[in-house]
Amino acid sequence: MRTSQRSFDIAVVGAGPAGATAAAILGYAGAKVALIDKATFPRDKACGDLIGPRAVALSQDLGVRFSARPRLVSDMILVGPKGNELVLPAEAGISYPGVGWLMSRRDFDLALFDHAIAAGAEFIGERLEKVSDQERRYSLKLSNGSSLICDALIGADGAISQVARDLALVDETQARYGFAIRAYVEAEVSTPVISLIGDAKMGLFPGYGWLFADLDGFCNVGVGVGVLADRRRGARATAALPGYLELLQQQGRLGKGEIALTRKLGGWLKMGSTGVDPARGRALLVGDAAGLVNPLQGEGIFAAMDSGRAAAYSLLDQSRSPHLSYKAHLREMHLDFATSASVLQRLALEHPKAAYFAANLLTSNFAPGILGSAWGIYWNDLMAGSGPIRGAQLARGISRIATLAAMATPERKIVEHALS
Ligand SMILES: Cc1cc2nc3c(=O)[nH]c(=O)nc-3n(C[C@H](O)[C@H](O)[C@H](O)COP(=O)(O)OP(=O)(O)OC[C@H]3O[C@@H](n4cnc5c(N)ncnc54)[C@H](O)[C@@H]3O)c2cc1C
Repeated sequence: MRTSQRSFDIAVVGAGPAGATAAAILGYAGAKVALIDKATFPRDKACGDLIGPRAVALSQDLGVRFSARPRLVSDMILVGPKGNELVLPAEAGISYPGVGWLMSRRDFDLALFDHAIAAGAEFIGERLEKVSDQERRYSLKLSNGSSLICDALIGADGAISQVARDLALVDETQARYGFAIRAYVEAEVSTPVISLIGDAKMGLFPGYGWLFADLDGFCNVGVGVGVLADRRRGARATAALPGYLELLQQQGRLGKGEIALTRKLGGWLKMGSTGVDPARGRALLVGDAAGLVNPLQGEGIFAAMDSGRAAAYSLLDQSRSPHLSYKAHLREMHLDFATSASVLQRLALEHPKAAYFAANLLTSNFAPGILGSAWGIYWNDLMAGSGPIRGAQLARGISRIATLAAMATPERKIVEHALS
């Protein structure tokens, strides 16, 4: 029996922040859009639940309506391996506010998903099994046995992207991964904490941990670790979580006694774009599928939404090949920071003792006060759009030096080639 094959202008695989943003813009522009996800919404997602200031600004620009109320967060405490603290002040930039949001990904992603559906995208709740490139169109085989055809494709299906794999847009020997695990614990925490953690006993360094307050008396606590191309090492993050909880208790950030964790969930992060060709023809990768997670601290929501928006605009722009305009956007937004941050991450993983020393120095009492501001701006990649403050000037200086130092590295050459 012959089943009829449905046809769409654009299929977006993955309805997380990247896919939902792209689908909403394309839908409002009048395109016939299929938004495909194996999950039904609302769905949970392993995350620290911290929506950074640029993602807050972009959500507002897009007119997304949130029914859940976020908890506003401003300053953060960065804790060094020896327990020293550096305050990273939240400072408004020209293009982003001086606050981030804490909101569960169930609520945040649902609002973006609803926004895409309101724009006219058609939701298809199936897993993508296989995609193939068929003479300028794409054919998608879904888990219910049906298939569909589209003129353009957006791969927004996360770090372990089926679209990237099937279209040979990722080289797994070069791609860089991290693994992070989060859970919720009943506690009151006012200022979010990020810890640069690890010692000989935990064997994790350089990894990071976090303790973020949520809205309902439960805090989001987690551990993340970079593994470069060796995904077998991701289990170290899960193994390190109990030790991190103990450390938080020793530092007086969590109460003594048995800690009950709920909703433990881990996930992969693809970092720094190395090994990914983000666009070919009319197939574009966005968000984690494109490896756009910050290699230094694991933030990916803003880059996911921003790349989803850029991919949508590139497909709507009739004057230029979509892959060229999309790559131009990624070059401008990510090339310098992503490659220099990737190099820093690799050096830290290859030389844990030097990283340990540097992390203690960064958080020591001898560090000048302006360093917290500059480091907060640099490692959160907030240089573009920052205001005329001293911390931003220093962060731009750090960024220029890091970019120059990374020029001759393999990371720079690989990503520059992919974005050319
Ligand atoms: C533990 C952890 C903590 C993190 N904390 C933060 C944080 O606090 N702040 C921050 O900014 N970033 C954080 N990140 C990173 C952030 O979660 C991601 O960068 C962000 O979710 C990327 O959005 P995305 O839309 O690209 O992908 P995702 O949000 O992963 O969405 C991908 C979607 O694709 C769907 N999908 C996958 N495969 C298929 C398939 N074959 N067929 C159909 N559908 C499919 C999935 O169901 C999913 O809904 C964290 C990541 C982890 C793992």
